Order: sequence, then structure tokens, then C-alpha cells
Amino acid sequence: MHRLIGLASALTVIKLTSTPTTAFSAEPLKVVASFSIIGDFARNVGGDRIELTTLVGPDGDAHVYEPSPADAVTMSKADVVLVNGLQFEGFLQRLVEASATKASIVELTKGIEPLKMKEAHSHEQEGTAEDGHHGGFDPHAFQSVANAKIYVSNIAGGFCAADAAGCDAYKANAARYTAELSEAEAYIKASVEAIPADKRTIITSHDAFGYFENAYGVTFLAPEGISTEAEASAADVAALIRQVREDKASAIFVENITNPRLVEQIAAETGVTVGGTLYSDALSKANGPAPTYIDLMKNNIGTIKGAILGS
Ligand code: ZN
Repeated sequence: MHRLIGLASALTVIKLTSTPTTAFSAEPLKVVASFSIIGDFARNVGGDRIELTTLVGPDGDAHVYEPSPADAVTMSKADVVLVNGLQFEGFLQRLVEASATKASIVELTKGIEPLKMKEAHSHEQEGTAEDGHHGGFDPHAFQSVANAKIYVSNIAGGFCAADAAGCDAYKANAARYTAELSEAEAYIKASVEAIPADKRTIITSHDAFGYFENAYGVTFLAPEGISTEAEASAADVAALIRQVREDKASAIFVENITNPRLVEQIAAETGVTVGGTLYSDALSKANGPAPTYIDLMKNNIGTIKGAILGS
């Protein structure tokens, strides 16, 4: 953190002495996306009019990400910075300050209906006031496709404000991509329909799927809370093991961004096989099963359905 603050003054000097480039309309719009899912949205809306940098990459955990000095340099040069908001990116505030960026910062959860955080388990008192994760809303709004459409609309608005000449293109791209999102949404709903209603409770590592649960009717239980920062308590783990033993949870999954140890422990103690990997807060790498947001959402419901139905 100190390195970043030290960098801030150096960056200010660079900014003041460099030639302004915004006058050239041929220059691509310099866009920074805070994490991989937003990066995919940005690519779909921006196409080749933008030059995109994503801070937290595939399989990365934005909750605990530590920005590098290079990230501060990237931020300082950006025209538009796309962030989730709702305190998802714990690193963001100090990175914005350290980089002294003049970019417009577009908060993509603006306009969604935020869900309250799930009632914290017994580790509620472990959260300190300053960690920012215990004061309000669940930030994982992208786990509902209806919300993803709002993110996309906000991105188009942010790009139009920064690059009026490209606005028609951004709007056309957003409309095309929104239609693809609608198809993915229908696929998810049909997949959930195929799972018997009393089998729709599952276990995963952390509370990343509240919006998915709310939108599609699959119930997620997790030993860790909304942020991966807090440790699960022994009592939470014991409670989940009890749920599995009483057949209240049908399947159990690891996540791509979290340590699988806890989930594997629950699986071992209950004799339930881990049903696969869910992609919670990040895409997979390009050669994985979830290199785009649409792939991610389809892959997750496919993995859930396959594990529950045993197909
Ligand atoms: Zn998360």
C-alpha cells in the first residue's frame, strides 16, 4: 500500500507533463475493468473501439486482491474505469487515490435492486468495522443475468459519455449482446426446471450466489460469508455437515477462486462426492470451461444439474 501511495506523486508529474491525447478520435478508448467478468462485458460492448485492461484476471479473487504499482500506472492512463461497486473491490478506493486517475469511474451495479447480505453465520462478530464487508448489501449482483443486462447498459452509457463518436456502435453492440444474455437466461431457467424442487439446495464455499438463488430458485449454503476474507467457523462447518447428513443439501461444489479445503472436508465427513467446480467471482482461463460470462453461467447450472441428477 505504501508503495502505491509513494507512486501517486510520481504519477501526477507524468500526467502534467505528458501531451493530452483525448483530441485524437482514432485513439482507442482506454478502459480498465476491475475484474474478469466485467472485462468480458466491456469487450462485448466496446469491441475494437476500446483498449481494455482487466485488473483481477481469470480465477482471481477480487475480495482480497492486492494491486501492484503497474495497476496504478494503468489506472492513471485510463479514460473509463468499470467497477462492480457495493464494496466488491476492497482494493479500489486506495488504488484510485494512489493513481490519481482522472478517468470516469462507472459503478455497474447502479440501477440494480441490491440484496441484503445473507444473515451472517456465527462469525459475524469477527468482522471489524473497517473491513467494509459487513455493512449492507451483497455485491455479487452479476450472478443474475437480469442484472448483467443492467451492467451492460451502464457500460454503454459510460462509453458513450467518454466517446460520443462511438456511441451508436456501443449501443448496437450492447443490444446484440443483451439478446445473447436473454438466451442464456432462458437456458438457466429451463435447466433449473429440470431439477426436482426438493433437490435444489446445494453447498459451495462462500456466499457468492445470493442473486442466482433469488433469480432462479436454487438455494446455496456456504461455510464462508459474502467475502472470502473471513474464515469459516467450526460451528458453521458442523452445521453444514449436519445439513448434508439430514439430506437437506443435494450436492456440494468447490469454487474456482477459493481454497477447496473446507468443501473437501465437508465432502469427506459426509461421504458426498464433490460435484465439480462453480465459477463464482471470476471467469476461467481461455482454455477452461468458463472463459466468458455466458459460458460461466451455463457451465455453473450445467454442473449443478449434472451433480444433482447424477447425469
Ligand atoms: Zn465473492
